[in-house]
Amino acid sequence: MTADRNRRFQRADATDLDRMVSGQFSLEIACKGCGKRLVVDPLPLLRLAVLKRWPRNIIQLGKHLRCRCGRNHPALMAVDEAAVSPSIGIIDEGSFNALKKRLRR
Ligand SMILES: [Zn+2]
Repeated sequence: MTADRNRRFQRADATDLDRMVSGQFSLEIACKGCGKRLVVDPLPLLRLAVLKRWPRNIIQLGKHLRCRCGRNHPALMAVDEAAVSPSIGIIDEGSFNALKKRLRR
C-alpha cells in the first residue's frame, strides 16, 4: 500500500476526535443549511468534549453543535488540510487544567 493510500484509509477511519488528533488531521465542520464550512484544529474541541462529557464520535458530537444560521447541526469530517478557521473549544493546556480543577469541586 502506498503512503498516500494508507493516509486516505487512516482519514476515513478517523471518526472520532481522538483519532483525528493522533492522525494529525483537521476537522471539517460543514452546515447543510447555509453552506458555511470551517476547518479547525480538533484538539481544542476534544478538550471541550472531555470536560463536558460529550461523545467524541463525530456523528454523535455533531448533535451537540449548532450553526449560527439557525437550528442546523453541522456535519463533521476529518480532512487532510491545514486548519484555517479560528479554533472551537479550549485552546491552551493551562485553561484546560484550570477548568478541570474547577469542575471537580
Ligand atoms: Zn448554517
